Amino acid sequence: MLPDNIFMKIIDGKIPAKIIYQDEWILAFHDIHPQAPVHVLIIPRKEIRTHAQIGQEDFHILAKMHALAQKLAAELGLQDGYRLILNCDVAGGQTVPHLHLHLLGGRQLGWPPG
Ligand code: 5GP
Repeated sequence: MLPDNIFMKIIDGKIPAKIIYQDEWILAFHDIHPQAPVHVLIIPRKEIRTHAQIGQEDFHILAKMHALAQKLAAELGLQDGYRLILNCDVAGGQTVPHLHLHLLGGRQLGWPPG
């Protein structure tokens, strides 16, 4: 069972976040518990719970999220590489029930993930 959707509160401005990009479709902000020197979360404004629940009508939002990840990676100095992670539901390690793409970089990342 996933907990409350705290990201909706960030979208609604009810709790603060270090927002570095927003438009009518998506937002990007720094993760509150960064796992690397750069750890940004990119989310849709639309309430989509998990990756498994993305409908065909929303695929254009995923494209916007990836385009922004590419742009932010360049702007945040990740020329040597970066990692995008999208955890899906409980077994996938998702803790916030609102679709989000992690952009991680700024150190050598290990593999495999836990
Ligand atoms: P997940 O485990 O669901 O893929 O990732 C959720 C991420 O959201 C975690 O990396 C966690 O640190 C981050 N997070 C949780 N609550 C907040 C919050 O209130 N503000 C920000 N900026 N990040 C949060």
